[in-house]
Amino acid sequence: MSAALRELHDSLLSEEGGTLATYIPELARVDPALFGLALATLDGRVHAAGDADVPFTLQSISKPFVYARALADLGLEAVLSRVGAEPSGEAFNAISLEPGTGRPSNPMVNAGAILTTSLVSGDGPAARFERIRDTLSAFAGRRLELDEAVLASELETGDRNRALAYLMRNAGALRCEVDEALDVYFRQCALLATAEDVAVMAATLANGGVNPRTKEAVVPGPVAEHVLALMASCGMYDGAGEWLLRVGLPAKSGVSGGIVAVSPGQFGIGLFSPRLDVRGNSVRGVAASRVLAERFQLHLMHYP
Ligand code: GLU
Repeated sequence: MSAALRELHDSLLSEEGGTLATYIPELARVDPALFGLALATLDGRVHAAGDADVPFTLQSISKPFVYARALADLGLEAVLSRVGAEPSGEAFNAISLEPGTGRPSNPMVNAGAILTTSLVSGDGPAARFERIRDTLSAFAGRRLELDEAVLASELETGDRNRALAYLMRNAGALRCEVDEALDVYFRQCALLATAEDVAVMAATLANGGVNPRTKEAVVPGPVAEHVLALMASCGMYDGAGEWLLRVGLPAKSGVSGGIVAVSPGQFGIGLFSPRLDVRGNSVRGVAASRVLAERFQLHLMHYP
């Protein structure tokens, strides 16, 4: 398996299309040539190739895992009444709110993620963030650190997310202070993980919420199932439909160039390459996923 990953890695090195995200200035300082691939199996093994041990900020990859925390804390019905489950078909930062109520369309776009973060139990923003960090760390099987420079950069430039939060607060959808919700949201986005970590996080979802390396039950099985459903329908920005068609796996991408993908009951995949296509998905990450899905017949709708 490691040899197959190395071969795939090498075959995609000549792919230099796409551009770095620049709206968070610190993200534009990353080496664009980085490329890491990792695959974690449910017996706890991790296969990797390239820069799979280089940390990057999780950004939107944090969203499904925080959604898992909120679902485990409050239950599906309570969460669903506050954040919808419909693909918006729009960009990650779209103003995708239900008219009147301000309820965001799903937890994978920024508005829905900011609201989801505010639902996590915790006495104040610091405690809520620590719970989120603990949860994401448990998914990864090691303690995840925070990138202070990326956090500061996003705090300076995150006005669009602030605007989304104000709209939700005005409509009564967001029930805590805007700054409080955003502080925790920006922090979760600035948590650092490697492609290997992301593969283990994915494998934990593939394994019904139990980390295959530490054996810790991070979230209950039905929560993992619900998170995977949302990743399948809404995880890849406005490219979610074509991704489901071509790759056919629950996944989530982030603007730092990471992708988490899950083959339920089989394994977790972590990919990192910072150059993005027009929809904000990692160019090499998407290409590698297509090859993996085809070679190992991973498409969920595959008829054996
Ligand atoms: N922190 C980023 C933002 O809110 C995450 C976006 C993403 O990865 O899609 O703009």
